[in-house]
Amino acid sequence: MTLHDLLALGRQNPNDSSESFNMAYLAIRGSGAVNGVSRLHGKVSRKLFEPLFPRWPADEVPVGHVTNGVHMPSWDSEAAEDLWTKACGKECWLRTTETLEQDIRRASDTSLWQLRTDARTSLIEYARERLARQLAVSGALPDVVDRAKHLFDPGVLRLGFARRFATYKRPHLLLHNPERLLRLLANPQRPVQLIIAGKAHPADQAGQALIQEWTHFIQRPEARPHVIFLSDYDMHLTEHLVQGVDVWLNTPRRLWEASGTSGMKVLVNGGINLSELDGWWAEAYTPEVGWALGDGREHGDDPVWDAVEADALYDLLEREVIPEFYTRDERGIPTAWVRRMRESMTLLTPRFSASRTVREYTEQHYLPAAAAYHVRIADKGAIGKQMVDWQHSLEQKWATLHFGEVKVETRGGQHVFEIQVYLDDLDPEAVRVELYANGIMGSAPVRQEMKRVRQLAVASGDYVYSAAVSADRPPADYTARVIPHYDGATIPLENARILWQR
Ligand SMILES: *Cc1c(COP(=O)(O)O)cnc(C)c1O
Repeated sequence: MTLHDLLALGRQNPNDSSESFNMAYLAIRGSGAVNGVSRLHGKVSRKLFEPLFPRWPADEVPVGHVTNGVHMPSWDSEAAEDLWTKACGKECWLRTTETLEQDIRRASDTSLWQLRTDARTSLIEYARERLARQLAVSGALPDVVDRAKHLFDPGVLRLGFARRFATYKRPHLLLHNPERLLRLLANPQRPVQLIIAGKAHPADQAGQALIQEWTHFIQRPEARPHVIFLSDYDMHLTEHLVQGVDVWLNTPRRLWEASGTSGMKVLVNGGINLSELDGWWAEAYTPEVGWALGDGREHGDDPVWDAVEADALYDLLEREVIPEFYTRDERGIPTAWVRRMRESMTLLTPRFSASRTVREYTEQHYLPAAAAYHVRIADKGAIGKQMVDWQHSLEQKWATLHFGEVKVETRGGQHVFEIQVYLDDLDPEAVRVELYANGIMGSAPVRQEMKRVRQLAVASGDYVYSAAVSADRPPADYTARVIPHYDGATIPLENARILWQR
């Protein structure tokens, strides 16, 4: 392979040496299937990779989605594991997740609330010790280290925010109005604890500055009893956090979070998500299972919108989250909270479990790919070789292909199209001719195969194709197109040529 050909795999235009090498382009050109990691990410990716499929409609860009899931047995606490095992049996996460829903729905209010109370208590021990160590290492005075050992109260609502401090994740959204945040945390009737954890890439100065903002806030004496920042965010810390926080916050700038998985890790432990409608939460959220931030639209990098969302976040916490946590029945149980917890565990845990994800990859991608591979290699790769020949003939002949005369007759409620297509000496089986119309009012586009009805003159390369469509729409809505075709080939992923009649 020449260097030019190698670099071409990572470029939109192979001959543009000023274009930088794009790893995603390389990956797409080497893949038998391509998917995003959430529904929204699939949609965003179809838009992003449109340039690799020029003249194809955006919704036919061959990128689907398989939403991420997390391996529940890795993230559940021991107590959560007991609860799920009691409800659904030992092999809970190994079998299909279909019956999990009914099983966990039967768990009692008391057992669910006990799970939360215990989890909040165990995280305190871990957080105190970790913070004390962190402070000691950084040279804090002994009384400061000592104070860390007595922080936090197991009965208080606990919010968690832990992630890489990348700017798109807006880790400072909660800090937008520090006074309001303080009032919210330090309310003596309904106090709130906040655990922040994070890490920024050492070269990411903007990310480092966001960590600084939190460090400064936490140094304020009024904030100190209510907020801690745990450094060196890693999977071990995540494991403890996702077990012991009541509400997991996520505030990315919409369309930037491909999936997000940390919020899925709290599900099995009965934690509840409050998140921007981005990534997985855009498809998981309903009012019964958690809280949503944002209006489900894009606002770019707009400080005015950030301010609106920060205010909405404070409002949500003050008016819904905090009151729901502290409104108790005679047994001391917050029934509305437990109801939301149960819905989240019931409806979301099975859907965002890795079992479901792996099953989808297997069924949608791996099994069909394995079958296609066996077809291609059988008989010393006979089909594979024919497909290479097919690719070469398309490459050689495509430029000469063109449309000729178009006739439409309307009869019996149908438009009957007859369209001439010049294929040169290309095997007509190497292509497919379709009649196409854009979808109207959100419906799917029309893609109707046209049948080859005759050749204009022997060995002329000129053919007539015909198709009938309902006369509900005017004939002018329709246009014909030629696309590559080979049984079992994925079009346009394996060959993105397309010729439109107009
Ligand atoms: C789960 C996890 C992530 C991913 O978190 P997101 O919120 O999805 O970005 C990142 N880092 C660690 C250590 C994790 O455990």
